This record gives sequence, structure tokens and C-alpha cells, in this order.
Amino acid sequence: MIWKTKKFSALVCLGWVMLVIAAFFMRYEKSRDERERLALAAARHLTGMITVTRAWNAGHGGLYAPVTPAFQPNSYISDRMRDIQVNDQLTLTRINPAFMTRQLSDIAAGENGVRFRITSTRPLRPNNRPNELEKRYLEFFEQSAVDKGEFILEGNKEVYFYMTPLVTDSSCLECHAKQGYSEGDIRGGISIMIPFLMKIPLYFLLSWHLAMAVCGVVIIHLGIHKLSHAYDTIEHLATIDELTGIPNRRSFMAAMDVEYKQSFRDKTDLSLVMCDIDFFKKYNDTWGHSEGDRCLTTVAQTIQSVLKRPHDLCSRYGGEEFVLLLPGTDLKGAVTIAEQVRLAVEKQRDASGRTVTLSLGAAALDASQSSPEDLIKKADAALYKAKKNGRNQVQYE
Ligand code: GH3
Ligand code: MG
Ligand code: MG
Repeated sequence: MIWKTKKFSALVCLGWVMLVIAAFFMRYEKSRDERERLALAAARHLTGMITVTRAWNAGHGGLYAPVTPAFQPNSYISDRMRDIQVNDQLTLTRINPAFMTRQLSDIAAGENGVRFRITSTRPLRPNNRPNELEKRYLEFFEQSAVDKGEFILEGNKEVYFYMTPLVTDSSCLECHAKQGYSEGDIRGGISIMIPFLMKIPLYFLLSWHLAMAVCGVVIIHLGIHKLSHAYDTIEHLATIDELTGIPNRRSFMAAMDVEYKQSFRDKTDLSLVMCDIDFFKKYNDTWGHSEGDRCLTTVAQTIQSVLKRPHDLCSRYGGEEFVLLLPGTDLKGAVTIAEQVRLAVEKQRDASGRTVTLSLGAAALDASQSSPEDLIKKADAALYKAKKNGRNQVQYE
């Protein structure tokens, strides 16, 4: 039973550990999705702001700002009205949406590391040519104009890369019509790199699930050990006679069933000896019930000490009756053992010198019997004969 318990416990523990591993991967995947969702939301939010600002700029047909040594006109704006000389001191130059985006990008990159830019496969400005990753996204936009993003490694740092398509509208055509674009065309995209610092709590998840696995294994192991102990106790109580400590009638009937079938099939010997203490009522009446109990226990142990073969079974059949089940023993052998038992009990004396005797009836399996009960009946008949013949003796059928 113990190896079975260990195997069962190991199997349940294995099941538990697999469950925890599956839970770990599910949690990990969920954390990844959550992180991706947040990064995408942040990127969309940022692009939304850029797009609104660009639309505002385009809506005004561009804005003008003073030219300074640090701020020079944009050479890619080929408009007559690009620069306006206000006086000797002040020249204004036009800032279109693309020029504005570039400037905002420079400020953002310096402040919080977020980089964004406009890119296109047909740029007016060569610096707006896409890199390999952006090219891949632009190709994707040709099929489906849906924004998307992914985490990429930059050196040993993870950043979120995101791109949204730039769809041509009427305000764009002022500069871009000459490139052959018309309204609704995908002109390129706005790409964003966000140093997204939210990390998946891998060590926390690992240690939490490891603790769960270990605690579960310990609880399962202890629980099954306790259950197995309780099961053994119940099994013991169900099969052992409480007073004498030898197998009870239930165990005898189970063993009898097995041995009877096996002997019948293999045509091997099987014998039964019924034993009954003589005048035990008188013993009880004279010495009291507890002395009677003690006597029953001594007799049970004396009988058991005579049986030597591992398959021989001595059980308490009921009251002051015992039964011996002797597989592989013929009638002659059963009578010999019954006689040894009788002698051993007869010789037995308690502390006060009291003795009891046994009457025994032996019977062996033969072809005339068709059930275990037939064999029991036969041994009972032999016992009755022994009682009738004057007790303290062995009879057989
Ligand atoms: P016989 O020689 O014909 O077998 O006579 P007997 O008195 O032994 O048989 P009887 O069937 O008349 O009485 C059996 C007695 O066994 C009666 C009962 O008090 C006693 N007995 C049965 N079970 C127990 C037990 O668990 N403890 C004690 N102390 N006595 C028991
Ligand atoms: Mg009796
Ligand atoms: Mg009796």
C-alpha cells in the first residue's frame, strides 16, 4: 500500500506542478499582452497629439516664425511665400506641418527620449527615407492602413516601436501633389519610438508560482500521507478483531473466497478447522466477563503461535469460536495441526493457573462441495461431533 500511496502522491504532485506551470505561462502571456496594450495606447495617444497639431498647422496653411542664426528657413519648401522680409531686423519664414513635426521631434527626443518622425518611400527630404523596419511597416500599410507596433531591442534596451499611416488630405496636396499623390493615398507614416519602461514582473511571477508549487506539493504530500494513514486505520479496524488482535470474520470470509476459488481451479488442497472453547459460558460466569475477554485473547494468540505457514490464517469467527484456514493442507495435515492447537491451548495456564480446552472440527475441500459455505458447514459438523463426543478433542468429516 505504501508504494501505491507514494506513487499516487507523486502523480497528484506532478499534476499540481503542471497546473502551476500552465498558470505561470498564462499569467506571463497576460502580462505581455497588457504591456503591449498599454504601449500601443501610449503611442496612439502621442500620434493623436502630433496629428492634431499637424492638422492645426495645415489648417492655417503653415505658420511663420522669425529667422535666427539657430533657426534657418526650410530648403525643402519651394514656395514663393516661404520667407517674408518684414524689415531690416526681421525676416519670417514659413513652418509647414513636416517642418514643425521635425522640430517637435527634436524637442521631445531631448526631453524624454521619445522619438518620432515622418517617413515615406517617396520623401521630399532625403532624410525622411525609411529605415528597414519602417519600410516593412510602409509595405504593410499598402495592404492595410492600420496602425501597429512592437517591442524591439535597441542595443540592450527594449523600446516600443509604433507606426501609423499618413493619409493624404486636401491640405497635404499643396506640397505633395507634384509627387503624384491624390486625396486618400497613403503618403507614408509617422513612426514613434518610446522607451517604454514597464517591465514584465518575471522574477515576481517566477517566485510566486514557485512558492505556490512548493506549498502545494507539501500540502498534497502531507494530506495524502494523513489520508493513507486514516485509510490504513480504517482498514485495520475493518479487518482485525478488536479484542483479540487477530483477523476477524470478515477477513476470514474474504480469504476463504480467494483460497477456495484458487484451490478449486488448481485442484490443490484446502482445509478448514473450526475451534470452540469448551464450557466458556461457565468460565465467564465463574471468573467474570473481563477475565473471559483476557482468556479469549490468550487462546487466540496461542492458536496463532501454532500456525507456521505464511498462508495459514487464524481468525475469530465469533464469540468463543475460532477458525483456521489452511491452504495447501489436506485433511490429515489439518487434523495434525488441529491436534497441535488443542494441546497448546490445553497446556496454556493463566497467572491464576486457570485453563480452558478446545473442541475442534476439521474438514477438507472435495469435489462434492460447490461453495465456501459447504466447507464451513462440513467443519462445523465435525466440531459438533467433537462436542458430542465429550469435548477437548479433534474430529473430522
Ligand atoms: P460449549 O462447550 O458447548 O461450547 O459451551 P459454551 O459455554 O462454551 O458455549 P455457549 O454457546 O453456551 O456459550 C458461549 C459463551 O461465550 C457465551 C458468552 O458469554 C461467551 N462469549 C462469547 N463472546 C464473548 C466475548 O467476547 N467475551 C467474553 N468474555 N465472553 C464471550
Ligand atoms: Mg460457541
Ligand atoms: Mg463454547
